[in-house]
Amino acid sequence: MVRRLGELQRAQEAPVAVEQGFDVVVGRARLRGSMDRIDRQGDGLVVTDYKTGASVPSIPDAQVDPQLAAYQVAVAAGGTAAVDTAAGEHPAGAAPGDAGPDPLRARGARLVYLARGSRGATVREQPPVESWGDPGWAAAMVDQAAQIMASAQFWATPNKGCETCGVRRSCPAREEGRRLVPPRAPGRDRDLGRAPVSDYATPQARRERAWPERATDDSTGAGAREDQA
Ligand code: SF4
Repeated sequence: MVRRLGELQRAQEAPVAVEQGFDVVVGRARLRGSMDRIDRQGDGLVVTDYKTGASVPSIPDAQVDPQLAAYQVAVAAGGTAAVDTAAGEHPAGAAPGDAGPDPLRARGARLVYLARGSRGATVREQPPVESWGDPGWAAAMVDQAAQIMASAQFWATPNKGCETCGVRRSCPAREEGRRLVPPRAPGRDRDLGRAPVSDYATPQARRERAWPERATDDSTGAGAREDQA
């Protein structure tokens, strides 16, 4: 895996940043985190996230991957202003409060799986924000996530992460957890009907918002291609 990462990095131009922290407000959300790698592409930035797992999403699912989408939202919102400066977009020493030029654009994001494939790392691309049918869908997803997390209760929603979830043995959505917590406490059915569920919980739901005009076509995505680096 380390050898593949080394080969991959030798084959690419030097990134403008690695392990780049960001902290930006998007709607009701404060997005904080770190981007593994950032490359300059034209008038914008491409974010790379390295993965060590072997479970690779499909090409269409990666195109609406929520983590990559959140990175692009952070770039578009100016969360990588320090990288913009390093890339020469913002003159060093500008007076505090100067509006300066717009932040570099979000030119896409990618997942790079280092542990899969015999020929090299497996790459999954997410197209840039501006190519989405609705460029605002990912910011709306982030905003709604903040709204749900701020609510008084969380609701167990089975998903593909359940098998490795640390609380699955006490989760009411799991058979083993129901011995401890009943799935529906007496008289609570009406409350369950009000559970705050994300409008962006599944890849298909995200596709319907990213590309409303072609969400019914599940077999192809914008610029779908499989890359081996
Ligand atoms: S086991 Fe329960 S709490 Fe854990 S991810 Fe699944 S639904 Fe959520």
